[in-house]
Amino acid sequence: MNAEIIAVGSELLLGQIANTNAKFISSQLSELGVNVYYHTVVGDNAARLEEVIAVAEKRANIIVFSGGLGPTKDDLTKETIARQLGVELAFDETALTYIEAFFERLGRPMTDNNKKQALVLAGSDVLANHHGMAPGMIFERNDKIYILLPGPPKELEPMFQFEAKPKLAARLTDGAIILSHVMRFYGIGEAELEVAVQHILDNQTNPTVAPLASDGEVTLRITAKADNEQEARRLIEAKAAEIQAIVGQFQYGINDDSLASKTVEALLANNLTIAAAESLTAGLFQAELAEIPGVSGTLAGGVVTYNEHTKTEQLGIAPELFAEYGVVSSECAAAMAESVRAKFGTNIGVGLTGAAGPDGHGKQPAGTVWIGISMEGRDVQTYKLQLSGMRNTNRLRAVKFTCSYLLRLLNEK
Ligand code: ATP
Repeated sequence: MNAEIIAVGSELLLGQIANTNAKFISSQLSELGVNVYYHTVVGDNAARLEEVIAVAEKRANIIVFSGGLGPTKDDLTKETIARQLGVELAFDETALTYIEAFFERLGRPMTDNNKKQALVLAGSDVLANHHGMAPGMIFERNDKIYILLPGPPKELEPMFQFEAKPKLAARLTDGAIILSHVMRFYGIGEAELEVAVQHILDNQTNPTVAPLASDGEVTLRITAKADNEQEARRLIEAKAAEIQAIVGQFQYGINDDSLASKTVEALLANNLTIAAAESLTAGLFQAELAEIPGVSGTLAGGVVTYNEHTKTEQLGIAPELFAEYGVVSSECAAAMAESVRAKFGTNIGVGLTGAAGPDGHGKQPAGTVWIGISMEGRDVQTYKLQLSGMRNTNRLRAVKFTCSYLLRLLNEK
């Protein structure tokens, strides 16, 4: 089965908003093992919408529409599809009651165009909108599946995930089960990972294995189809074990894990406290850890010491160290890590210093980062990164690498 996503909205073409709905729907469809071959964007214009629908019908089995289900004149998705397929529009009583109740609650009169939102393609499977007024729908005709979703992401995302996806899965699988499992890697590039598991990627049938890279991380999504959950899990586990045997040393987690969540988990499991002195990341390391619930059990705090003066004043680092080694140096990262550990009385201290870019720092080129990690009872460790991204990418990568470095040191303990 393959799909095409048609995002309807002139604001997308004007560059006022990004087509995040297509990104979301694509990632959801990939979890069902559906290939998305085309993303199309069209303005709020019935004639052009008709044209793209006709093209999509020639090349896709599933056509997913985003937007144009609202009350105004330029919202014309369902009207256009209805005309093209020769289907009537009919009021969905549940949606109508919901909309009427909404206006009653607000104490405002309901205009006729609002009522229009409760119109659906006759004979469609209606998708409830728990975050807005316009319902979505799934409609089947001539072996094609049409899925209509509202434009606002806060309505579209839950509607797809909880209403459309299970119904679509049931139509696609004839009662079979589709399960997905994500393996997360760090410290290995996408190309390198693909080469390492090339024979698995080339010979995949069931389960399928799909690589994806973002922000310096690589994931492999394993998707299995089977008659029951137990069998799907068995297929996934066998494939995961095969992959682990090749690149397992780079795997840090699965599914919704993040480097920060695994770091916090490992620190808590080892009963260790941590503090950080940050220069180029200016608090980003602590902010990433702080996204994880329960982090107060390990993160004591830290300091942002962005210039030499504050590194001396807050951390007591001697100005002679900067003169001798430079502020972007192993010695400075080590001193920051040791000093912040002592200052906050924690088991671990992290020091981050570097040149985020676009300019370098002294003799150090842009993207040079030194990470220092001071652990109670161990010699301080430092690590140099040479990054090549834009300024904020480098700052985020420095944080992610610090997490992966900490994870490695904690696993060695
Ligand atoms: P509404 O009832 O809000 O009019 P609708 O289904 O008619 O909903 P649109 O009018 O097309 O949808 O879009 C409403 C809003 O949803 C847009 O202003 C925009 O903020 C957001 N939106 C629409 N399409 C997309 C998209 N493809 N990606 C991200 N956001 C989108």
